[in-house]
Amino acid sequence: AQLMARGLPKQKPITGVKQIILVASGKGGVGKSTTAVNLSAALKSVEPNKIVGLLDTDVYGPSVPLMMNLHETPLLTRDNMMIPLVNYGLQCMSMGFLVDDRSPVIWRGLMVMSALEKLLRQVAWDAVDYLVVDTPPGTGDTHLSLIQNLPLEGVVLVTTPQAAAVEVTRRGAVMFQRLKVPIIGVVQNMNTVVCPKCHHSLSLYGHGTEALTSELGVDLLQDIPMDPAITETTDQGKPIVVALPNSSQAEAYKTLARKV
Ligand code: ADP
Repeated sequence: AQLMARGLPKQKPITGVKQIILVASGKGGVGKSTTAVNLSAALKSVEPNKIVGLLDTDVYGPSVPLMMNLHETPLLTRDNMMIPLVNYGLQCMSMGFLVDDRSPVIWRGLMVMSALEKLLRQVAWDAVDYLVVDTPPGTGDTHLSLIQNLPLEGVVLVTTPQAAAVEVTRRGAVMFQRLKVPIIGVVQNMNTVVCPKCHHSLSLYGHGTEALTSELGVDLLQDIPMDPAITETTDQGKPIVVALPNSSQAEAYKTLARKV
């Protein structure tokens, strides 16, 4: 990976975007997209004067159409740039806007790379201050390509605390460190469950994530509890930060946004 990052064309900013923040995870299903979507909404909420964009680069399993309730096909500008779809005040772009919702995407690596190229260079972002980039699970071609082509503020890693998830997160983190991408920190998702009756917070897995962050010398940015309200709002296409802005869950994402 180190060899691949060297000697390549210079990183070029995205037109219309000031800062680019990646959201990545080692494993799938740990809540990376949920975090990316809510982080975007939370950034907008804590800094209302800033313009926030959300770019979903997961070609095989795009989440933004569902989570942001956006299903139209983007219009084009006169010079063939795709105009982001907007909901909840966030400019959004996703490969999911360009392919049929119900058909499987069967693409070879090269097709994925040319699709990614379009998502990076042919979107008419409108004065975006923070672009949150949701990435596919794991660390693969898409990540390498993003790192090689874009100037990045840094990456937020999302993990659940199970040993298996933490282990893959460690490998991902080492890759980002080797490629000189600043790790903004780690979000621990779904470690705790709060009892709806007595409000006791139960920790499910223990301290795997803390061991990882101290080993890597990076911050544990935020703990996001496992909460049915998060799943429900996500499935309804409205991030909890927007749906229940005064909830403790929304506050947790806003605290995260202040640290990013
Ligand atoms: P990933 O992007 O890592 O594959 P997702 O963000 O798609 O993961 O989340 C996977 C599932 O877990 C979704 O159904 C989502 O609603 C749910 N989920 C994510 N985070 C939480 C949470 N903190 N509490 C409850 N459900 C969550």
